[in-house]
Amino acid sequence: MAGHLIDMDHAATTALRPVARAAMEPFLAPCDDPSAVYGNPSGSHVIARAAVRALDEAREQVADSLGCLPDEVVFTSGGTEADNHAITGGMPARRGIPVCSAVEHPAVLSVTRALGGSTVGVDQAGRIDLDALGERLVDLAGQVSVVSVMTANNELGTVNDIGAVATLVREVAPGVPLHTDAVQAAPWLDLSLCAPDVDLVSVSAHKLGGPRGVGALVGRRGTVLAPLLHGGGQEHDRRGGSHDVAGIVGFAAALREVVAQRGATNDRVTALRDRLRDRATSLEGVVSTVDPGEVEVLPGHCHLLVEGVSGEELLLLLESHDVCASAASSCASGAIGSSHVVTAIGHDDPGHAPLRLTLGTDSTNRDVEATVAALALSLDRIRDRP
Ligand code: PLP
Repeated sequence: MAGHLIDMDHAATTALRPVARAAMEPFLAPCDDPSAVYGNPSGSHVIARAAVRALDEAREQVADSLGCLPDEVVFTSGGTEADNHAITGGMPARRGIPVCSAVEHPAVLSVTRALGGSTVGVDQAGRIDLDALGERLVDLAGQVSVVSVMTANNELGTVNDIGAVATLVREVAPGVPLHTDAVQAAPWLDLSLCAPDVDLVSVSAHKLGGPRGVGALVGRRGTVLAPLLHGGGQEHDRRGGSHDVAGIVGFAAALREVVAQRGATNDRVTALRDRLRDRATSLEGVVSTVDPGEVEVLPGHCHLLVEGVSGEELLLLLESHDVCASAASSCASGAIGSSHVVTAIGHDDPGHAPLRLTLGTDSTNRDVEATVAALALSLDRIRDRP
């Protein structure tokens, strides 16, 4: 990272872990390097077999970290593909319509809408309204293709009780697959505990220190999953296309380290985040969007509402003090859009800017202090305006 910049946007992406980079090196080396492994694992000769071994090992490591079987892991190009695959079920599309929460990431929400699906409201903290979900599933009995509820929200960081969602879906809509987008949760939560009853789970490497452009969809045995990408029959006929072996190996190495260090990392980052939130909310006009005493929030997330400023202006002011943060959602052009999440929880008052500050494994106390100082200076600047 450029030394002077403070990254408070780790939920957007986070730097490649050295362990992931080291694991990827042989797969990126030129072919005259004796350590190079560049074969296509779909082949059968000796060059291909080295890649097959690496792929098998990575699959076992990912399965072990996520608490599933190796053949339940489908490697993808990231969270977006995994979500699209889970919601459509592949091609031809599953019969019926998807149902998801109103605060899902666009990778779930857009495909749900494109298929004529239905969204269910959330509480003030952004957690699925279980009563409303139950009623919707009763109303749509026999017409639902999949239910999708994210493990943790990417903007607010609030964690859903996925066990309770699974129990409800089994009771009210038995046989309907349940998907959870665990892209934000995977760096912090033990998914083998969180989602034992879930049929489909999406994860993405770049949120946890792996490379960008790689992820996985876990499809439990017995869950119908046609390919979304038709091709050479890779991934047990569930995802066509030559494997990105380097990326997959880097993903597995990063995930393994995340799991090994999770307890200590979570304690350290939670303490930093709590300090950040306490210091920030002691500034006039700054409040925490969700009540931290009432709601489980991912360790790295701190979501604030800041009075008397637009989100765009606040981000520019913070950046002028070297702090990189996020307001709500960023579209592909980098422009700041309004947040469907903040709207869904009833906080879309134009007088308050949403501010998402997200810490990562390497965040420090200095980052917290610099962020609070930058926020205080930005607010002074706004309030001193004639
Ligand atoms: N789902 C959630 C909750 C996310 O936060 C993101 C990325 O921001 C995605 C899906 C998309 O993942 P990817 O960037 O790997 O396509």
